[in-house]
Amino acid sequence: MIKNFKAAIAYLEALIPQKREARYQGKIGLLRQKYLLKLLGNPQDQYPCIHITGTSGKSSTAYLIAAILKEAGYRVGLHISPHLKVITERVQINNQNLSQAKFVSLVNRLVPVINQVSQNPKFGTPTYFEALVALTFLAFLKEAVDIAVIEVGMGGKFDGTNVLKRPLISVITNIGLDHTQVLGETVEKIAHDKKKIIKSKSLVISAASQRKVREIITRECLKKNSRLYLLNRDFHYRVKQMNSQGEVFDFWIKTEQWKNLKLSLLGLHQVENASLAILAVKSLETYGFTAGEAPIRQALVSAFFPGRLEIIRLSPLVVFDGAHNQAKMRALTTSFPRLFSYRKLIVVFALKKNKNLATIFPPIAQIASFIIVTRFTIGQDLGLNLSYPPQKLATSIKEKFNYRNLEVEPSPEKAFKKALAMQGRKDAVLVTGSLYLVAELKKRDVAHHTVEYAKKNHINKIQRGLRFSMSKEHLSKKGHQKGWQWRENPRALEKKRRSKTRHFGLNETKVREEAIGREFLIGRENEKLEVGVVAANKSGRFNVLFQGEYQECILDPEVSFDWNKRIVVGDYVTLKQNEGRYMIDHLVERRTALSRLRRDSTHWGTISTRGEHVIAANVDVAVIVAAVKNPPFHPKFVDRYLVLVQHGGIKPVICLNKCDLPTEETEILGYYQNIGIPVVRTSAEENMGIEELKAEIVGRSAVLVGHSGVGKSSLINRIYPEADLRVGYVAEKTGKGRHTTTVSELLVWEDNSYLIDTPGVRSLGMWDIERQDLQLYFDDINQLAVDCKFNDCLHDKVTPEICGVVRAVDDGRLPLQRYESYVKILREL
Ligand code: GDP
Repeated sequence: MIKNFKAAIAYLEALIPQKREARYQGKIGLLRQKYLLKLLGNPQDQYPCIHITGTSGKSSTAYLIAAILKEAGYRVGLHISPHLKVITERVQINNQNLSQAKFVSLVNRLVPVINQVSQNPKFGTPTYFEALVALTFLAFLKEAVDIAVIEVGMGGKFDGTNVLKRPLISVITNIGLDHTQVLGETVEKIAHDKKKIIKSKSLVISAASQRKVREIITRECLKKNSRLYLLNRDFHYRVKQMNSQGEVFDFWIKTEQWKNLKLSLLGLHQVENASLAILAVKSLETYGFTAGEAPIRQALVSAFFPGRLEIIRLSPLVVFDGAHNQAKMRALTTSFPRLFSYRKLIVVFALKKNKNLATIFPPIAQIASFIIVTRFTIGQDLGLNLSYPPQKLATSIKEKFNYRNLEVEPSPEKAFKKALAMQGRKDAVLVTGSLYLVAELKKRDVAHHTVEYAKKNHINKIQRGLRFSMSKEHLSKKGHQKGWQWRENPRALEKKRRSKTRHFGLNETKVREEAIGREFLIGRENEKLEVGVVAANKSGRFNVLFQGEYQECILDPEVSFDWNKRIVVGDYVTLKQNEGRYMIDHLVERRTALSRLRRDSTHWGTISTRGEHVIAANVDVAVIVAAVKNPPFHPKFVDRYLVLVQHGGIKPVICLNKCDLPTEETEILGYYQNIGIPVVRTSAEENMGIEELKAEIVGRSAVLVGHSGVGKSSLINRIYPEADLRVGYVAEKTGKGRHTTTVSELLVWEDNSYLIDTPGVRSLGMWDIERQDLQLYFDDINQLAVDCKFNDCLHDKVTPEICGVVRAVDDGRLPLQRYESYVKILREL
């Protein structure tokens, strides 16, 4: 029994086809869908439906039809795909996502039926998409909808939704080139596929424009004895106004005309979709559904559909649009310059594999000033890793179109932030090329943060403005400074400088500190300079080990005070003397950094969303301390620390402490040794293994990490008794320790041998690691990956037949615990 939403999603995601050939199964897929629904009692036959296909505009049209019908007082089911943020977007009742609890209960209802279908060799296992279609139809029955609006997944003929026997209306929005490998290389072939949603004696509405396509649809309607309405023949619209608020248009059919309809969805193409929707609802009158003019006007004016010319921020402008084929891209690039005024347009662009770059790229190239090429890393319906590799994409763009104003940033989040950093006040940022890219950025809530950032920035501006404008004295001192000249604030300048660094990709050390008129960060090439090592930083009061002595010092007041927080234990700094006081005047670029995930939300100002929080710098070795018992030994924590440490460029050593206690299960340590990670067994209590541990860290800078209570302080006291650290206790009841260290400190226990004692990596969250890159920190898994059938295998949700890593778990070469750690972390990324 599936208990919660997360588990339900995991169950469904396990049905995502992994084998390429399993992705487009044609007839067998549809037969399986029918069988699956039959076992569920054919819910789809028990309420009236509208079926929608087309190359672009399907979801928007479906959404608008549902919105109008809801406004007219009907209970409406809406099925769209793919989803942007949450899977329940696919199952909407009255334009609200189905509740998670209901979703879970429906998945539980599905499980036995899916098992039954899977066991039938004729069909095989239903796919993710098929399961969701079945779930949707079932949900609509349970929710007793008056009518359902169903968007196809892809094409028509063999689509999982093409089980509808008698939809009241079939809509074919338009036909263009998309999914050509599956549906056909020409619009005619695609039309032949999509026309298959037309059923006998129904109504058909289409905005298809090509003569040949219109002929194909017309013939099919004749054959099926269905009535056809074509745009610009039977119904018409005329756009009268458009701007960033939306459009105003007139709509008319033979007998009726409506003037000055207001639509909030942006873009000329949305007017076409709205016209299809209006006609669809009007046509429903034949079947007894009545919606007057008022609900239509109301639904259009309050329409909001995410991911389609969606304004994420108005000033400076940020827009998301999931255009991913030629028709959509043309629609987008025609409307964009008409909707918004801007100086430069920075585009963040990713594309699905196998898309036709030759037709998609030229329109965007015409309006973009600069393009950041990236990728998306989530996959839904048809499998994982669907993105065009960004480097390859960039090369193709350069070679085929001789387009050079671009750069590559494989992380979508970073690409987006880069674009924001480049953006001037009058520039626009547009994220496009794939709905999956939009979905990924939305899922990570980057968009939300953009808005938050804008809000905060706005408030900051006002506050700073007030400060300046209220203090007249200050104004006169500063000459002509006006209230809004908040950018003169050193902190703001610091932000600007960082943005520029990102924008121009300059090494931070080379960038002039605009705020102070000189450079603060210096490169490692300056190693000849005499540097000190930061031994402690107590809120800006530094203790620096300099020329063999500890010096109390502060940050040079000329330097942006931000650095007070950013300089950490282990950092190399240079000092200057001023009136007998030492001051830090330079920071040397870091060699390595031990970091944890920053979870607080107080730093949006620098657009550094959940990100890296450095806790120690220039660390050579990280000793990952675990205890055999008390607190209990968990390999999963060791694996997590291993990733964190290696991600910071630091060499790991595992130390198993409290070996005096009766040992519990720790055989896995032998495995770590085999894969080249040194393991030392110690007992701080009985002074055992300490020499071995010292041998691993002597002459280097080392940090001890691990959960509290494992004995880090006790070990440091053994290595360097003068440290005399306070030792905590482990609560008997919970088996958990208490943090004894509150401030990080650097201790010199022998010449050139540093020990950093830190309150630790409290939050073990991962930052800045791509899913694909995770295995780089699991070298054993990385090596086993050569046996996987597919290059892009991530080793989760796969069977031993195709995955070398899963095979290794099966035959005992890879410990299950280690594999589980990998999968668990992967899921978090
Ligand atoms: P930290 O939180 O990792 O710094 O852990 P502490 O050094 O404060 O130690 C936590 C508790 O474990 C204390 O009660 C120590 O006395 C105990 N402890 C530390 N090392 C050992 C050891 O090797 N054997 C045993 N039995 N107890 C130890």
